[in-house]
Amino acid sequence: MKKRVAVLAGDGIGKEVTNAAMAVLDAVGRRFQHEFEWVHGLLGGDALDQAGHPIPEETVKKCEESDAILLGAIGGPKWDHYPKELRPEKGLLQLRKHFELSVNLRPVQAYKTLLASSPLKEEVAEGVDLVFVRELTGGLYFGEPSYHNDEEAVDTLHYKREEIERVVRFAFEMAKQRRKKVSSVDKANVLESSRLWREVVEEVAADFPDVEYEHMLVDSTAMKLITSPASFDVIVTENMFGDILSDEASVICGSLGMLPSASLRADGFGLYEPVHGSAPDIAGQNIANPLGAILSGAMMLRTAFGMSKEANAVEAAVRTVLEEGYSTAEFKGIGGTVLSTTELTEKVVDHIENEQ
Ligand code: ATP
Ligand code: MG
Repeated sequence: MKKRVAVLAGDGIGKEVTNAAMAVLDAVGRRFQHEFEWVHGLLGGDALDQAGHPIPEETVKKCEESDAILLGAIGGPKWDHYPKELRPEKGLLQLRKHFELSVNLRPVQAYKTLLASSPLKEEVAEGVDLVFVRELTGGLYFGEPSYHNDEEAVDTLHYKREEIERVVRFAFEMAKQRRKKVSSVDKANVLESSRLWREVVEEVAADFPDVEYEHMLVDSTAMKLITSPASFDVIVTENMFGDILSDEASVICGSLGMLPSASLRADGFGLYEPVHGSAPDIAGQNIANPLGAILSGAMMLRTAFGMSKEANAVEAAVRTVLEEGYSTAEFKGIGGTVLSTTELTEKVVDHIENEQ
C-alpha cells in the first residue's frame, strides 16, 4: 500500500524525533511491503523564520493532499517576543481548527523497565495501560461569550449532543478493541453540561452491551489516577477535564518523551504527534527520547491506515528494546544502557526488520 504523510517536524527536538518515526515507518514499509511518501511542510517557529507565518498556506495544502499528518513539536524561547497572532503555537491551533480535529487520543503505558522513574510506587504504576479519549474542539475553551473586564469574567461551557456523542461513540468502539471498559468522567453533581454528557453515554452504551462502563466525577478520577491507575482502560471526557487529567496521568510512565498522541477528525483523518514539546533545553544534542514520536507513528499505522499488524510490530519492537534495558538520557540512574536518539531508533528499526 502507498501512503502519503505530511511531516511537520517543527522546532527544537521536533526534527530529531520525526526523523526517528520516519526511519521506523520506513522499516515497516520494507518488512510489510508498503511505501510511505514523506511530504515536508513548515510549521511553528521554523515556519516563522522561513516563511514569515507560523502556518503557511502551502503547509495546509500539503496536509490536505496527504493521508495523515506527522508532527514533531513547535515553539521555543526564540519566538517568545512575537505578537500573539504570530506565535508558533498559533500555527498548531489553526491546524487543529482547520482540520476539525475533535477527538484527542492519549494512551499512557507503564513499561516495566522504566517503573523506577515513575513518581508513583512501582507496584501502583505497574500494569498501567489506559487511553484518554478527550473532546478537543468544544466546551469551556471555545464557548461564547468569553471575556473579562475589571469587574467580572465570563467563560461559557457549551456542548451539543452530537459533539458529545461523537467522542463517546469513539471511546466505546475503542474499548471494544481493548479491555472493554469505559470510564466516563464528568461533574454531573454540579454541571448541566455533564448531565447531558451522562444521558448521551447511557444511550451510546446501549449499543455496546459487551462493554462495561462507569460514570465518574472528575475530582475522584484525579485521585484514582494516583491511587489505582491500573484499574482504567478507556477514559472518555470533555475538553478541559481531559486536558488536566491527561497531563496528570502523563507522569506515570516516567518521561514525557514516551507518550504518543493522535487528534482525529470525524471521518478518521488525523494528526499524530508525541505529547512532549520542543524541549529547547536538549535540542540538537541527539539525546531526546524518540519513542513518543515512534509510538505516534504506530498509532498512525493502526488508526489512519488500518495497518494493525504493522502497528503491533512497532509497539512490540519498542517493548523489546526497553526490555533489553535500552533507553535515553532522561532515564539514566535507573540502570540499563543509555543510548542516543539515533542509536535507540536503530535498535527499534533492527527489531522490526529482523523479527518475523
Ligand atoms: P510545550 O510548552 O511546548 O508543551 P513544555 O515546556 O511544556 O513545552 P517540553 O518542551 O516537552 O515541555 O519539555 C519539558 C521537559 O521534558 C524538558 O526538560 C524536556 O527536556 C523534557 N522532555 C520533553 N520531551 C522529551 C523527550 N522526547 N526526551 C527527553 N526529554 C524530554
Ligand atoms: Mg507544555
